[in-house]
Amino acid sequence: WKKIDLSNRSKDELYEMEKTFNDMIDSLKESYEMQEIFVSDASHELKTPISIIKSYAQLVERRGMDNTELMKESIEAITLEAERMQKLVEQMLALAKNKEVHHAEVVDMNQLMEETIAIFTGAYGREITLKHDSEAHFVQGNTDQLKQVLYILMDNAHKYSEDKVDVRIGEKDDAVIIDIIDSGGGIPQQERDRVFERFYRIDKARSRNTGGTGLGLAIAKSITLAHGGKIEVESEAGKGSTFTIKLPAFKKMDSEN
Ligand code: ADP
Repeated sequence: WKKIDLSNRSKDELYEMEKTFNDMIDSLKESYEMQEIFVSDASHELKTPISIIKSYAQLVERRGMDNTELMKESIEAITLEAERMQKLVEQMLALAKNKEVHHAEVVDMNQLMEETIAIFTGAYGREITLKHDSEAHFVQGNTDQLKQVLYILMDNAHKYSEDKVDVRIGEKDDAVIIDIIDSGGGIPQQERDRVFERFYRIDKARSRNTGGTGLGLAIAKSITLAHGGKIEVESEAGKGSTFTIKLPAFKKMDSEN
């Protein structure tokens, strides 16, 4: 370990260093404050399932022993809340883990989208149409992380709309552009940026019923940004929403040169 010796530094150099240190302190303070807000929001979100589990456990203790109906209902509620907590914890970890690209490879977005759509048509019988030109659209990134982005957006289109969902993939100005278009209730103008914030939900009760945590879009945004891309939403109240991801296109020739 070497001690810092500032005795030979000029006034200008010292001034520059002071400025650098103060900027560092400001950004550390900001990230510390954001961390604090996250911990407080996360604790708040976990409190609800914990208190529901506790009250059902007390109910069973008091009146459940000879009441099988009540016992059954309580076990179901406890299981549901435990699953909610598990999802919350998993998504909080996903948020922390997805600030950077894990291992980059060349990913065919048409194929990834087809695989994601198959999950929703298979499991829920949703009518989803995929439109893309005959070309393949490649990006450089991590398959699992990109799949997670597509899954989150498809899952929202499925949860928040009942009618058909259209998906478009194309390329413009060196970017692969994916639109996921639903015909649900839409997102009011003033909420459009906020939906990407952690834990933000427009209708808390509805989102809770559909198993929402308010973290999906924050994770999708974090992964997209890590890949050098962008995520946006356009929406018309009562007509539906279009979520768009733009990712830098990868030209196969790039690697051959
Ligand atoms: P959640 O787990 O609640 O779905 P998200 O972060 O994925 O969390 O989304 C945040 C909120 O944005 C949702 O609670 C919902 O209110 C709104 N939202 C997201 N996608 C859509 C959509 N396709 N249509 C209408 N509202 C949406």
